[in-house]
Amino acid sequence: MRRIAIYGKGGIGKSTTSSNITDALAESGKKVIQIGCDPKADSTRLLTGTDRPVTVLDLMRDGRELVLEDFVREGRHGCLCVECGGPRPGMGCAGRGIMAAFAEMERLDAIAEYDPDVIIYDVLGDVVCGGFAMPIRNGYARDVFVVTSGEMMSLYAAGNIAEAVNGFKDDGYARFGGLIQNSRNVKDEDSLVDAMAAEIGSRTVFRLPRSPEVQLCEGKGTTVISGAPDSEMAEEYRRLAHTLMELSEDVSGGMRLGGLATGCDCND
Ligand code: ADP
Ligand code: SF4
Ligand code: MG
Repeated sequence: MRRIAIYGKGGIGKSTTSSNITDALAESGKKVIQIGCDPKADSTRLLTGTDRPVTVLDLMRDGRELVLEDFVREGRHGCLCVECGGPRPGMGCAGRGIMAAFAEMERLDAIAEYDPDVIIYDVLGDVVCGGFAMPIRNGYARDVFVVTSGEMMSLYAAGNIAEAVNGFKDDGYARFGGLIQNSRNVKDEDSLVDAMAAEIGSRTVFRLPRSPEVQLCEGKGTTVISGAPDSEMAEEYRRLAHTLMELSEDVSGGMRLGGLATGCDCND
């Protein structure tokens, strides 16, 4: 089982990239679960075709006993989709929401039940506090990749995430896999991204081009893999999915290694 976390700055293309990776792997016959860990809860919309997904946190707020089928949705090519969700705007903490959702999935033994070949965590990386670092702590994700362009703020976020992964390396679990360049056609983009990769002791593992096909398919509520399967961009996403499979480690076992779902460092 591969457990891959895709981090990056908001708006950089994490969910689009994650969804196309998931769809490409599902298309090739793999059992894939994509877990959206962004409070916006829009990680899996291109896979399920809905902008208003059921989230684990919303269901938990209802206070009734949940079963997996309440929040695990089937998406394109049979992939499975989960949205952790977030707090009500202006209240509570988004990172705590991720923790609560993970704890609920563990209670229901989600991973043992579905036994996926690949888990993709799609995580907001602007702030890497204890909550948003959850997927890289306590044995959730094994391989961490960061989506970035050549723009300064996305490179800055990549540096922060690399530092966070490094900070938990004594836990012996998550490891930094590299940068995925989602090109914005910034001047000298390839060398800017490569320079950041070198600075954090890593490498650029793939360069996705900017493509109008992505937004055309988004307009139709679908991934490029399903919406334009014969396009050059679909082939790029298939190659990226293949690259991540090659670079990530096959680790078996349950959703995590044990212990309670901890991660938040605030005291409120
Ligand atoms: P994030 O999940 O990081 O917040 P999204 O995946 O929602 O970002 O992407 C933000 C926008 O960028 C979307 O409108 C998406 O269609 C667009 N986008 C992402 N990748 C590409 C690409 N390679 N080419 C063109 N547009 C892209
Ligand atoms: Fe929220 Fe603070 Fe915990 Fe982050 S560390 S998840 S901001 S309470
Ligand atoms: Mg997103």
